[in-house]
Amino acid sequence: MSSHPHIVLPWAVRRSRLPVLALRCVDCPSNRATVGDGRFRVNANGKLLDVWLLVNCLSCDRTGKLTVHDRVPVRSLPADLLAGYSANSPSLVVDTLLDPLIARRNRFALDWDGCWALHAPPIPDDPWPLQITVTFDDAVPVRPERLIARGLGISRDEIAHRVKIDIPLNRRTTLDFSFVLV
Ligand SMILES: [Zn+2]
Repeated sequence: MSSHPHIVLPWAVRRSRLPVLALRCVDCPSNRATVGDGRFRVNANGKLLDVWLLVNCLSCDRTGKLTVHDRVPVRSLPADLLAGYSANSPSLVVDTLLDPLIARRNRFALDWDGCWALHAPPIPDDPWPLQITVTFDDAVPVRPERLIARGLGISRDEIAHRVKIDIPLNRRTTLDFSFVLV
């Protein structure tokens, strides 16, 4: 790459709302569900606790449950965590929904379509070559190619020819990266 000084622009990826769950409904053909405002259900059975995060089918509104804790000793959960479940703490809802272990355990994937925004300053006149640094303020998995197309309004073909980047354009990432547009 040339030693020509670049103009460096910062981009940021942020969550605009919670993603939809790709989760099969048991009552209808839909496979899309939402946590809505976020509600936990806590059930004590003697000294054991079950904790679920409730989800609703986006088609028929059936309520389903994601297992968060399954028959764990009450004493094994910190008091503030338990209080958070009981109070439907919004940040705990986010942490639970975005926890990969919870997703694996309950066999759902997250659909981030339309749930994130790219915050980008305007591109100056005559900016080439241009270096752009992408920071993920939230861990939204996006394909670099899609992000660049959205930010610059250029085609995939143009991206393939003009973008110099060290990571795969087509593999989703949540890690900060940068690229140069020539
Ligand atoms: Zn349904």
